[in-house]
Amino acid sequence: MTEAHKESMSFLEGVDRMVDRATLAAGLDPNTACIIKVGSAVIQVKFPIRVRSGVEVFTGWWAIHSTHRLPAKGGLRFAPHVNQDETEALSALMSYKCALADIPFGGAKGGLMIDPAKYTVDELRNITRAFAMELASRGFLNPATNVPAPDMGTSSREMAWIADAYKSLFPEDMNQDACVTGKPVNRGGIPGRAEATGKGIQFALQEFFRHPEELVKSGLVDGLSGQRVIVQGLGNVGYHAAKFLSEEDKVKVIAIIERDGALLNEEGLNVHDVRQHLAESGGVRGFAAAEYKEDGNAVLNMECDILIPAALESQINANNAMQIQAKLIVEGANGAVTYEADEILRRRGIVMLPDVWVNAGGVTVSYFEWTRNLSHMRFGRLQRRFDELRGSTYATAIEEMTGKGMPGKLRTDIVRGASELDLVRSGLDDTMRMAFADIRDTMKRNPQIKDYRTAAFVIAIKKLAQSYYDLGLAESGE
Ligand code: GLU
Repeated sequence: MTEAHKESMSFLEGVDRMVDRATLAAGLDPNTACIIKVGSAVIQVKFPIRVRSGVEVFTGWWAIHSTHRLPAKGGLRFAPHVNQDETEALSALMSYKCALADIPFGGAKGGLMIDPAKYTVDELRNITRAFAMELASRGFLNPATNVPAPDMGTSSREMAWIADAYKSLFPEDMNQDACVTGKPVNRGGIPGRAEATGKGIQFALQEFFRHPEELVKSGLVDGLSGQRVIVQGLGNVGYHAAKFLSEEDKVKVIAIIERDGALLNEEGLNVHDVRQHLAESGGVRGFAAAEYKEDGNAVLNMECDILIPAALESQINANNAMQIQAKLIVEGANGAVTYEADEILRRRGIVMLPDVWVNAGGVTVSYFEWTRNLSHMRFGRLQRRFDELRGSTYATAIEEMTGKGMPGKLRTDIVRGASELDLVRSGLDDTMRMAFADIRDTMKRNPQIKDYRTAAFVIAIKKLAQSYYDLGLAESGE
């Protein structure tokens, strides 16, 4: 994969420029934009841990970008390249993402500079718990104010350790489960969270394809079925997006790019099998049912219908933006397209579905998990059987009135009460659709805005600005 390319600006500056661009495009007050852009707080912690025969000092960050809504929310990243600029940039993206998706959270992000592959599970548990203690004891991990979630290099396992560390510090907090989201389902998690970001990408693409007048901008036609897709990164996000899209929407995943190279197959790769191979061998090389190419970067530039960068930020940058041949870019990873690349791609007429919309599925389902933790009750517990009873009454009424028995499958579908996973998926689908409706509406009202990212930022900035106006922290220009 492309190393984070040396652009003329940092990741954070790039995100800020996106805000400036949206401010200008929609004629918003630049002073308000100034207030919005500035991050609210960053904590850096350093803590020593005894690892094997020596002591290692670890460095981690928690960056809070906005607190107009609480808790401040975002993923916790474990990776060797983590740094403060990246954490702050990602925390800003969380603010805009939550605002766009109507999630009542502020934006935050955490990071720990570590290569998880170098440690045993026991060591990782110690390190994660110690990091959580550092944050919690300073008020930077708390169900009311700062709530992390999985991100690159972390999963439900780390979230369970974090929740456990928090509970040992604050056993009397009756909302302790809500101090972190993305937990294992039997430890206060919610069904559907693990795959939520990938599922959200699928819902976003399905929604995009429901609007022929939008689709035409990308030069794509017809339904999702048969579209030729390239995915970069088969981690949690890329894997689930590619799996759902290929299995349910019948797209053809013609290439998968990973750290050690890329796999190509014009007939479509079996995403599940590739993931299995990756888990077993640590790379994609040696996978039988595909052509292997060592130069994964070159595959990013291959001709295809839809490109889903779902690995690291800055993968599509000023260096390669001229070479990209995809018709549509679906930004699975946060900041996958740099500001400069975005400018180039827009000039080239390549349509992008921006990260702040398409990858909002993770935090959306985190929101469901957090509210479930606060209510101490799973969704649907009260009404599921009542709904089934009513469904059964409808079915019987139809049968009695028509004098005909209902086909078994139809009857089951009418009668069935929603499971918690059904409700989570429904809420996620609705969130993705509503956000795109807002984006399209904003573009209709402001015909000078021609791209989805700018429209998404305009919506987010306006919502953030309103909460600052309400508090009297900024002057309303209206
Ligand atoms: N890490 C995910 C993101 O970047 C999820 C954050 C969350 O659930 O709080 O959006």
